[in-house]
Amino acid sequence: MVAENLAQVQKNINESCNKINRDPKEVTLIAVSKTKPVEMLKEAYDAGARVFGENKVQEIVDKYDQMPSDVKWHMIGHLQRNKVKYIVDKVAMIHSVDSLRLAETIEKEAAKKAVIVPILIEVNVAQEESKFGLKPEEVVPLIEQISDFSHIQIKGLMTIAPYVDNAEENREIFRELKKLSVDIAAKNINNVTMSVLSMGMTGDYMVAVQEGATMVRVGTGIFGARNYAL
Ligand SMILES: *Cc1c(COP(=O)(O)O)cnc(C)c1O
Repeated sequence: MVAENLAQVQKNINESCNKINRDPKEVTLIAVSKTKPVEMLKEAYDAGARVFGENKVQEIVDKYDQMPSDVKWHMIGHLQRNKVKYIVDKVAMIHSVDSLRLAETIEKEAAKKAVIVPILIEVNVAQEESKFGLKPEEVVPLIEQISDFSHIQIKGLMTIAPYVDNAEENREIFRELKKLSVDIAAKNINNVTMSVLSMGMTGDYMVAVQEGATMVRVGTGIFGARNYAL
């Protein structure tokens, strides 16, 4: 099932790109494997997946050793400062930076391990109470503070859109994130690029791709529903 689902999601991404004359190569599919057993990740790997998303430090640490070394791990969940040290040299990108204190910890731990960590700034575009992430107006001030950290590279923005039945309802959210990234790119802040836009999940990734996503994070659509009771 995993291989078929993966192929279907990739096909949907390609078709969404074709509709708006985008090169599908611009869009990276992140297979969100949180809560799923390593056997399922290996099925996805065998079907070609190399980029995996997890939202818990412990799960990245556990799965890291059990999967081939060419896997790229993306930390997409809320990150506690005291856990940064466990993953800072294991992840290809941290999508969920939303405070100066967290960035300072990443900088410190990355320096210790002599790595440079690509990060995204998480923006709560929809301003949902329950979500992490900065308000849009807080993004530039934080980026300006982090931009000269030598072990962090700001690569773009990430958002988690609300859960909706009709993906069209999130189109405006994706547009707003894209607009914010264009505005920030125009400021030409040293060491900062806005090359990555991480937006879109199982319910709405096709709309996100049409609105400029360069990374979509798809879990359920590839691995099936999650059972948090396990
Ligand atoms: C779980 C998760 C996803 C994937 O959600 P699906 O709806 O299963 O595709 C994407 N992004 C983040 C931040 C997540 O925590």
